[in-house]
Amino acid sequence: MGEVQKYKAACFCGKVEFELSSEPVAMGYCHCESCRRWSASPVNALAMWKLESVRVVQGADMVGGFSKTPQAHRQWCKVCGGHLFTEHPELGLADVPAALVEGLAFRPSLHVNYKEKVLSIKDGLPKLSDLPKEMGGTGSVLPE
Ligand SMILES: [Zn+2]
Ligand SMILES: [Zn+2]
Repeated sequence: MGEVQKYKAACFCGKVEFELSSEPVAMGYCHCESCRRWSASPVNALAMWKLESVRVVQGADMVGGFSKTPQAHRQWCKVCGGHLFTEHPELGLADVPAALVEGLAFRPSLHVNYKEKVLSIKDGLPKLSDLPKEMGGTGSVLPE
């Protein structure tokens, strides 16, 4: 307790709501195949929070989960199928589709997993081949 709600988010139908009690630790775009397939789009715009900052406040019994790999636990609403967030237990982080977060000023700072891209984005931001070093990647940068 004690942490102040900063942002609210909800699934597509609104039955599941969750709160984010801090500012995101990072915002950006992921181009990996898993994100593309899960989000059903050519690129995933996401914001990352520390796991402990994410709390389901309504409809917890309607939260479904799916883990294709132990690194990513994907949460979704069993009523509407809408996405909620994806937990990364090894990193202690959760990523939330930026479009779900009410009032979030989306300020991306990088692209990750750009080597898997299907859509080039020439926005001048760094294009990391995989992940930053602090997240277990090489940190190497690709041309746009
Ligand atoms: Zn829903
Ligand atoms: Zn991804």
